[in-house]
Amino acid sequence: FKVPAVANEPMRSYAPGSAERSALQAAIAQIEQELPFEVPCVVNGKPVKTGKLAKQPIPHDHAKHLCTYHEADEATVAAAIEGALAAKAEWSALPWNDRAAIFLKAADLVSGKYRYKLIAATMLGQGKNAWQAEIDAAAELSDFFRFGVKYVEELYAQQPPRNTPGSWNRVEYRALEGFVLAVSPFNFTAIGGNLAGAPALVGNTVVWKPSPMATYANYITYQILLEAGIPPGVIQFVPGPAEAVVGQAIASPHFAALHFTGSTFVFKKLWKDIAANLDKYRGYPRIVGETGGKNFHVIHPSAEIKNAVMQSIRGAFEYQGQKCSALSRLYVASSVWNAGFKDSLLQEVAKLKVGPPTEWTNFIGPVIGKPAFDKNASYIKKAKEAGGEILIGGSADDSVGYFVQPTVILTKDPKSVTMEEEIFGPVLTVYVYEDADYEKTLELIDTTSPYGLTGSIFSQDRKALLLATNKLRNAAGNVYYNEKCTGAVVGQQPFGGARASGTNDKAGSMSIFYRFVSARSIKENF
Ligand code: GLU
Repeated sequence: FKVPAVANEPMRSYAPGSAERSALQAAIAQIEQELPFEVPCVVNGKPVKTGKLAKQPIPHDHAKHLCTYHEADEATVAAAIEGALAAKAEWSALPWNDRAAIFLKAADLVSGKYRYKLIAATMLGQGKNAWQAEIDAAAELSDFFRFGVKYVEELYAQQPPRNTPGSWNRVEYRALEGFVLAVSPFNFTAIGGNLAGAPALVGNTVVWKPSPMATYANYITYQILLEAGIPPGVIQFVPGPAEAVVGQAIASPHFAALHFTGSTFVFKKLWKDIAANLDKYRGYPRIVGETGGKNFHVIHPSAEIKNAVMQSIRGAFEYQGQKCSALSRLYVASSVWNAGFKDSLLQEVAKLKVGPPTEWTNFIGPVIGKPAFDKNASYIKKAKEAGGEILIGGSADDSVGYFVQPTVILTKDPKSVTMEEEIFGPVLTVYVYEDADYEKTLELIDTTSPYGLTGSIFSQDRKALLLATNKLRNAAGNVYYNEKCTGAVVGQQPFGGARASGTNDKAGSMSIFYRFVSARSIKENF
């Protein structure tokens, strides 16, 4: 059988008065009425209530929390690993079509029956507005599952092109020996589903530790996978304290791979922990990670100003700048800056409304929590101390929720701290360069931060685009011309970066699946 052609899930617009807006509104109201939810660990398909309780807050409202979840303890993690190992033989031997059908059904449940529930949970728990949550929890999550099935089908079809007379060469794409550990972030519900789902699709069994700040949306995703028919034990759901849960999993002799999205700091630490345990393992673990970014836009003198301004605002401030791909350093040619870019940028930023993401007019919601709030405030302070000029924003208020005003800082020092370090919030630093220094500025971009995730070039001059593309060869794994540096679409722009941004295995493409299989060549003589 062949899997039918897949397409990206169409995005809904939630226009005022539309049926979809009412449906989402109803889903939000229902969650608000029923919260806080109780979320157990799930091992072998059965809820495990450890009694060690932690809360997932609602970042825009300190008075409430979304769920109380049971943190996995040592016995629960041990049972999850054991269960994952036990489930492996049957799952990996299941005919491919059956595994594919489960994920195709899960995709339909995400984009159909559970769409509004997932979006509402992502809005309330992770602080996304409706459109940002739609992109993530409805479109990207179902795209990951549907396109994943298509990619794996193509992967399995890859066979050696040559045989000699009287023989037949085959390659079998085996699942890895052992279990896969998925450690997922708060900022995309979809990434949680993909970190756990992608390795499972190729026959692995997975121990999944979700982010404490995304527990509820990830739990719904997990329940969807069970409803779609994923056998108990194939993915084990173990929220809990990161160091203990992840540390225990990595210390297991059966640890086969890490599928991670999160901070550079944590990823490096886990890499070292894995190295320290290396002698315990039967094989060399696969380490796949997507981490931070310090992403740039460069505006060439030939850029179309209005587009460059709007794209820069969207890149920097959508979802409060909490995408790994978010724009945070902006290099603008002085002629463009003075010909209306600056005025238009400030006018448009002034219009962005900040407040609860559940109110339709708010563009900017809360940052995810207290550490994020403090980090934003401290970087704004550092920028000021270093001589940066706050052009707009600069204030923050955590009396009701964790709100940071969209902030634009103008710096004369292109290597100042907010040009170099990741903030993960709605703080954009601008450096204005002399038009004649375009090429020098490209070198500056390349050498300023340790990251290499995303970047955009705005120009109507093809030579300028080409020059930047060549000069910035390693500065970004995702490059955009005349468009913002966020919003990679599954199946359209494989996503990921190198340098300190990760292993660049490209989520939303076939490449990622290669990392979770171990190929075996079989030659038969007739
Ligand atoms: N894929 C997302 C984008 O292109 C970002 C994912 C992330 O934040 O890790 O905007």
